[in-house]
Amino acid sequence: MEKNKRAVVVFSGGQDSTTCLFWALKKFKHVELVTFDYDQRHKEEITVAKEIAEEQGLRHHILDMALLNQLAPNALTRESIDVTHGENGDLPSTFVPGRNLLFLSFAAILAKQIDARHIITGVCETDFSGYPDCRGIFVKSLNVTLNLSMDNDFVLHTPLMWLDKAETWKLAEELGAFDYIREKTLTCYNGIRGSGCGECPSCELRQKGLEKYIRLRSEGEM
Ligand SMILES: [Zn+2]
Repeated sequence: MEKNKRAVVVFSGGQDSTTCLFWALKKFKHVELVTFDYDQRHKEEITVAKEIAEEQGLRHHILDMALLNQLAPNALTRESIDVTHGENGDLPSTFVPGRNLLFLSFAAILAKQIDARHIITGVCETDFSGYPDCRGIFVKSLNVTLNLSMDNDFVLHTPLMWLDKAETWKLAEELGAFDYIREKTLTCYNGIRGSGCGECPSCELRQKGLEKYIRLRSEGEM
């Protein structure tokens, strides 16, 4: 199969990357998934990713990125560090410096190996919480660098880049995956699937977006 029809999705089993998975399935003939295991605070993330990959019948690569945890202890990797919002211009405690730089670079190396041209990531500037490597300009810059580094013509896709959470739910609905994503994905920092613990910053963001989408949909605004 030609390279142009093959894609790799950076996949965590969360709302955003699962929406990207369904987006990729509509666009490309052959889709594979890559998940990074960096001793996440919640191993549940890997389990959820595996289950979704299996259910969708997709080849799933799980890459060991434990070194990231070694380099950058933070709230996603250490139980002892609380999850906090970024305040007063500080980055949130969930920030892992360089995470997307590394993830996308490894995804590209994998894409090269399986002869895929397209790489899809759920990063989003709208709700980017101050993560510098979730911005559009960063992804464009890295796309150029990856192509130069491997003499390739990768295309990095960011279908969620300019959507807010309500619009991401709308996209899930358009892709016919609204209920699936609502029930099966894991976004919660406390490791609870679906609507989650309802208290952590990630659940709050997800819930607010969902409520906004459902409200606007019922008013015929979305
Ligand atoms: Zn939660």
